[in-house]
Amino acid sequence: MALSVFYYLCGMEVNLLHTNISYLKGVGPKKAEILGKELKVFTFMDMLNQFPFRYIDKSQIHKVAQVNDDLVYYQLIGTIDQVQLIGAPRATRATARFSDDTGSIELVFFRGLKWIKNRFKPGVKYVLFGKASEFNHNYNFAHPEIEEYNPNDPLIGEGLQGVYNTTEKMKDHGLGTRQIAKIQRQILQQVMDFIPETLPLNLLQREQLIPRKYAYYQIHIPANNIEIQQATRRLKYEEHLFFQLKLLRAKKRRESLNQGYVFSQVGDYFNTFYKEHLPFPLTNAQKRVIREIRIDLGSGHQMNRLLQGDVGSGKTIVAMMVMLLALDNGYQACMMAPTEILATQHYATLKELLKDMPVKFALLTGSTKTKDRREIHEGLEDGSLQIIVGTHALIEEKVIFKRLGLAIIDEQHRFGVAQRSKFWEKTERPPHTLVMTATPIPRTLAMTQYGDLDVSKIDELPPGRKPVETYHVYDDDRYRIMMFMKQQIAKGRQIYVVYPLIKESEKTDMIALQEGYEALLRDFPEPEYKISVCHGQLKPEDKDFEMQRFITKNTQIMVATTVIEVGVNIPNATVMIIENANRFGLSQLHQLRGRVGRGADQSYCILVTDHKLSDDGKKRMKTMCATNDGFQIAEVDLELRGPGETGGLRQSGQIEMLIGDLQKDGALIPQVRDAAIQILNDDPKLIKPENRMLREHYKELFAQTFDWSQIG
Ligand code: ADP
Ligand code: MG
Repeated sequence: MALSVFYYLCGMEVNLLHTNISYLKGVGPKKAEILGKELKVFTFMDMLNQFPFRYIDKSQIHKVAQVNDDLVYYQLIGTIDQVQLIGAPRATRATARFSDDTGSIELVFFRGLKWIKNRFKPGVKYVLFGKASEFNHNYNFAHPEIEEYNPNDPLIGEGLQGVYNTTEKMKDHGLGTRQIAKIQRQILQQVMDFIPETLPLNLLQREQLIPRKYAYYQIHIPANNIEIQQATRRLKYEEHLFFQLKLLRAKKRRESLNQGYVFSQVGDYFNTFYKEHLPFPLTNAQKRVIREIRIDLGSGHQMNRLLQGDVGSGKTIVAMMVMLLALDNGYQACMMAPTEILATQHYATLKELLKDMPVKFALLTGSTKTKDRREIHEGLEDGSLQIIVGTHALIEEKVIFKRLGLAIIDEQHRFGVAQRSKFWEKTERPPHTLVMTATPIPRTLAMTQYGDLDVSKIDELPPGRKPVETYHVYDDDRYRIMMFMKQQIAKGRQIYVVYPLIKESEKTDMIALQEGYEALLRDFPEPEYKISVCHGQLKPEDKDFEMQRFITKNTQIMVATTVIEVGVNIPNATVMIIENANRFGLSQLHQLRGRVGRGADQSYCILVTDHKLSDDGKKRMKTMCATNDGFQIAEVDLELRGPGETGGLRQSGQIEMLIGDLQKDGALIPQVRDAAIQILNDDPKLIKPENRMLREHYKELFAQTFDWSQIG
């Protein structure tokens, strides 16, 4: 007796969906093993959760004579003969002829050759489905799906058929997309009525969502496009809803569980700095953000806040003043940056700002000398060091704090949640955490990746900044670029010329930089002109030396790699020339551009590319020229690259969705989040009877996953 029937007789509905896929007729242990390995599909439900990524119209059966278009799918019925192995002594491909009453066409195979040799029986009719390709004015099919024709096959002549993810290995074992479609159909026939609803009826009605079991049916076996849309919306909605519930609950729980240190007073450190050492009046946005943070710090729960502010909006001074608040309340504070250069820059800023204040602080990075490092470790442990700035070196186990009350993390997108959480282990209670990012976060990402954080925004630049003018120039227009540079230098301005060096070890990139540097030396000869050069292969002291020459205006041009991407602040530099600009992503271009436009003079950003630009490349250049608004740029970036790269989402392993798509569901997510907020406001623990389904599915979904609420 099949196990599924057994479950059925026992009334174990839920388990029926968890029936091992090998019990399905036509699957068996071998195919089940492959499904498990290739798709992590073990049960009926796992299989149903493999959604088609698109649909094809199989209502038509074509004739061989109709095949006349490259890359178009055809469905043919006919016979197969003349199977030949080609290439001796070891065959490298096989060919065969497929014929119907209108003609014949070649089939080509590159894998599974031995198997193909004996696969086709003469005189038997097959259904072929595949994409035609043109080769020497002839069409052929490479690795089409082929099955024996069965006039009663429900898939033939039917409207839309889902196309499923498959792998070469699956196809080689008779698990092509067509077979998967059949398996889905078979499973649905057996278990559709046992697919439990997960959303309360009132929600279904209010949001006009179809019941879950129909959604599963329609997504796999749609009658038309409307059914696909209904099903997709329902399933996406569900997935986003549970994710939002999880984030919101995590946030709530963190607020109630994680008691925060109470920073109740604004004391001497903060006040003295504010009254006597503030180098410029704060912008209203900076004041507002400091106020928001101060309230949070005094509230009794642990702060977990994201501080967003475009490049140059002045986050550093905010961070510093918040650290002084920690000191005022007897705690230590730390500030972690993603690169050594940036950490060093923060340290230098701190040194300048705090030069007349009795604050003990230090810099800790990978290149801190052993002796200094030991001293720093001791100072942090006995509490004599009040502020530490640094890189990842800060989260090493050896680093022990006496009373860490506040952790500030700059440029969040490069740190995962897991790294953030390392600070939690360093104190008895989690320290208040302020995450700063210059990459504006699109709304959907803010609601997902950062959905458990509170957000503060600096949405105003310091006064007197003129928007940077940006131009896209082709590299055969060098003469004009050079004349422009000379004109700017004559006005006393300085210029960055940046080369992409994606990996510091990449030879060709290094050569491009060298050649560019030499060309500049010819166009801008000494003694009239002087040029600095700065890249990752230089020793740190040489880098510093070159940087210093530029900062002190001894050189007019700085040729550099992206080492200057973050941090560097030289207001007299007004031109940013980005070579091979198409090799940079949008957020990186925006960051680089942020290095100019920091003084009172008009600044320029010149994006240089050759004429061979991809569509994405063109769009990036156009976006950069059209706007200085980091927020808009981030939206386009998300659209072009997806959240994985923009937000480090995939890497963080925080979200793995079956059908939901953070990139494409931008319109749905805010709606779902609102619904989730409503549900939790009404029933925080999901204990009301009408929310029973929500609670059960929630438990099922998140039972095994790591509890993020513990780390905020
Ligand atoms: P980011 O937000 O990119 O980290 P920074 O903190 O480096 O920006 O600030 C950019 C520049 O703006 C620095 O030179 C800083 O001194 C200056 N700055 C910050 N706030 C103000 C302000 N309120 N008025 C004038 N200049 C400011
Ligand atoms: Mg900064």
